[in-house]
Amino acid sequence: MSILTQLAEALRDGSIEVIDLTAPLSSQTPLLELPPEFGQTAQFQLEEISRYDDRGPGWYWNNFRTGEHTGTHFDAPIHWVTGKDLDDISKVPAGVFVRPAAVLDVTDKVAADPNFLIEREHLQEWEEEHGALPSGGWLLCRTGWSARTTQEDMINNTQTGPTSPGMSVECARWVAQESDLIGIGVETVGTDAGAAHSFDPAFPCHSMLLGAGKYGLAQLQNLDQLPAAGAMVLASPLKIVDGSGSPVRVVALIER
Ligand code: MN
Repeated sequence: MSILTQLAEALRDGSIEVIDLTAPLSSQTPLLELPPEFGQTAQFQLEEISRYDDRGPGWYWNNFRTGEHTGTHFDAPIHWVTGKDLDDISKVPAGVFVRPAAVLDVTDKVAADPNFLIEREHLQEWEEEHGALPSGGWLLCRTGWSARTTQEDMINNTQTGPTSPGMSVECARWVAQESDLIGIGVETVGTDAGAAHSFDPAFPCHSMLLGAGKYGLAQLQNLDQLPAAGAMVLASPLKIVDGSGSPVRVVALIER
């Protein structure tokens, strides 16, 4: 039997399950907030064209307005100045949309410290337990942050500004420049920690991963339903010509 026939069988008999890793996309979806002097990403908004009425008696449809980086979304290398000569979202090779994933669970550490940063040593500990990180795969950072579904809870502003977990400069440098990983996925509104504006360099995950031609996935959910190793992530962004990123429906295949 071919591998794809086996896959079809496994999907049918439930031995492979499909997990939705995507946050609902609506006008309530939390958004990244930048200081007021900068431009802001837009809320998702539906604009009804017709709903079985005078404007269209037999059909319902909408236009929508959204930021590329609103809700669960995919960061292309061109999103950051360090990647300005690299791929826009329409040029990301389709092979990137189907990749294995490692899931690093730091939920307990984040519960104790919302500014918690993933360090190189946490990746080493993962590898000691589960083997090598998947070559060409994603590192999905499970922080528990997806339980925060309101704007206030997601951004978690404190005296020092946005307060949410992320990755240290040194770890981001290693992922970008030394690892075989293709990118990272997070539960927060962006791949960097809330306090990453104050890091040196600022926003190290954006700066170093995208500058290295790698990718980001933000605002993922249901990472608690994935195994630490062995999941396959499907993440297909819209083919927006010149786009810096795109809303994306992310799912994972897992073996039962
Ligand atoms: Mn983004």
